[in-house]
Amino acid sequence: MKTIFSSIGYVIFFFLLTGCDPASNGGSKQTAEPQEVKPGPITLVIHGGAGTIERKNMSAEMEAAYTAKLSEALNAGYAVLQEGGKAEEAVIQAITLLEDSPLFNAGKGAVFTAEGVNELDASIMLGKDLNAGAVAGVKTVKNPIRAALAVMQNSPHVMLSGTGAEAFATEQGLELVDNEYFRVTRRYNQWLKANGREDEIVTEESKEMSYIDLSHEKHGTVGAVALDSEGNLAAGTSTGGMTNKKWGRIGDSPIISAGTYADNASCGVSATGHGEFFIRAAVAYDIAAQMKYGKLTLQNAAQNTIHEKLGNMGGTGGIISLDRQGNVVMEFNTSGMYRGYINEEGNPQVAIYQD
Ligand code: ASP
Repeated sequence: MKTIFSSIGYVIFFFLLTGCDPASNGGSKQTAEPQEVKPGPITLVIHGGAGTIERKNMSAEMEAAYTAKLSEALNAGYAVLQEGGKAEEAVIQAITLLEDSPLFNAGKGAVFTAEGVNELDASIMLGKDLNAGAVAGVKTVKNPIRAALAVMQNSPHVMLSGTGAEAFATEQGLELVDNEYFRVTRRYNQWLKANGREDEIVTEESKEMSYIDLSHEKHGTVGAVALDSEGNLAAGTSTGGMTNKKWGRIGDSPIISAGTYADNASCGVSATGHGEFFIRAAVAYDIAAQMKYGKLTLQNAAQNTIHEKLGNMGGTGGIISLDRQGNVVMEFNTSGMYRGYINEEGNPQVAIYQD
């Protein structure tokens, strides 16, 4: 007994003396302190939807309109980061501008449901603490991404839907509009056509917005991922969903892990594409998980998810993503994706087609 106690005493004494495992050879520590990786420069990456977007179907006017709006959103979001703003503030700034533009299938200009109205979904997530907020199926909130932020910041929940989400947005003092506000004639005509109601097509206004890309019949969403000066990531996504959606259908965009994800330990992701596939493939989280557990680079992880996992399932679309070192990856398996990024190199880099 005595011997046991003296042995234990010896072990404790040795440990206190050396501060290390007595079973080791003594001296240096066996496990290295985790090295804090130095974050990269402030960066913002955005998308305006993926789909059958082909040069041959684009007029110069159309191309110019999309390029200008994407550049405007990049500059506005980047200015927030330059002033020391948080990643989520830059994401909100960029997405709000895209929601307000009739060019994209988010906010004003959203696609129509089978009932002929607009129902919007959005979500946001922070890489710092994995906090997140989302709204689904809202019809009167002017900027759904702001409602998603309010859910994250001012409610105990992550996702609110339908009339409940609208009641919450009202309480939060967010701007509300009639559902009519979201309606853009050209998009409405597209819906009439899809429902065999050609005789009701409205002509006057349609010319004005002739550069709206109607290849977004099925696709088209906006999203942003930012890295701020404190090295924090945030990602957000906003959409009108898919044309002729029925029965309160909700896509991937407001679903954390499917359409949006952010974790400082891996990356931030915003997706766009055929939502049903993105939900089943948990696209945004799948990319982050490969980085975190498999130690893959962002580029390799995104390629695996989009071209192998999603592609093999028959899903179409793409993602934008950003890691903490400021690496930007924009991967898609469609003919085009409206996209761009801006970092310390200066001017917004905007692209539309695959080449
Ligand atoms: N992912 C969106 C949805 O399924 C649509 C899109 O991105 O085009 O609702």
